[in-house]
Amino acid sequence: MKLLVLLSLLTCSLFSFNINISSSTISNGRTALIEFDKELHVEYDKLVVGKKKYKIFDNPKDTKKAYVLLPVSYYETPKNTKKVSLIYKENNIQKTKSLFFKIEDGQYKKETIKVQNSKVKLNKKDKQRASKEYAQAMKIYGTTTKESYITKPFIVPLSSKITSDFGKARVYNDTLKGYHSGTDFRAKVGTPLVSCNDGVVVLAQDRFYSGGSVIVDHGQGIYSCYYHMSKFDVKQGDSVKRGDLLGLSGDTGRVTGPHLHFSFRVGGEQVDPLQLIELLNKNLLK
Ligand SMILES: [Zn+2]
Repeated sequence: MKLLVLLSLLTCSLFSFNINISSSTISNGRTALIEFDKELHVEYDKLVVGKKKYKIFDNPKDTKKAYVLLPVSYYETPKNTKKVSLIYKENNIQKTKSLFFKIEDGQYKKETIKVQNSKVKLNKKDKQRASKEYAQAMKIYGTTTKESYITKPFIVPLSSKITSDFGKARVYNDTLKGYHSGTDFRAKVGTPLVSCNDGVVVLAQDRFYSGGSVIVDHGQGIYSCYYHMSKFDVKQGDSVKRGDLLGLSGDTGRVTGPHLHFSFRVGGEQVDPLQLIELLNKNLLK
């Protein structure tokens, strides 16, 4: 009996699994990927960084593996070291496995933009409309579809020159108004835009700031967004495949000229879309 107890204790303490992080330093506004092989008899609960909790998902291409996306807020302070704790249960005993990563400065540039004053200083009606649309969008991003719709690498919605990178600090008519939350592609009005991967259209409507807007849910908390469009070829609830036509680019909403603003939300956080695509394509979807 004693031997049995000793033996089971020994197997318990010997048990361990590897947890890998895509990089030990991550810039603010960018995303890290944590992956591990799932073990039988282990229940994976969540990942915790400070007060924030992150969901653990099955790898969309291999259910023996699990992954967590760690989107780092643009406003995180660089040079901070963060502790990541994986909370799991093994033989009904709660355990924690931890690793560390450091936040680097994304070194984003500053950008000054002149726009119509009516789009900067809003009247009451526009203010109400904009805040209603913001709340609606945040509700979407705060919803997580457990399954993943994606199995293939991501593509970009059009092949064209990038005119403004993610992360530029934005000064509208001399007032600092946050940062550029996506990547802008040159696109004259009427350029076809395709879905960057499989998913479900969760929003296709005209909004105050972003104009004609499409949001695609790719599952597991990943959303892609397409703004300033002039025409929709999809509606809310439509399933789309990678490369399917979403509509046409335009110059609707708060813009200085026609272009596509392409952005992503992961776990509710706005992150660099092109870095996220590269990260997922190279690791999760390879
Ligand atoms: Zn933009």
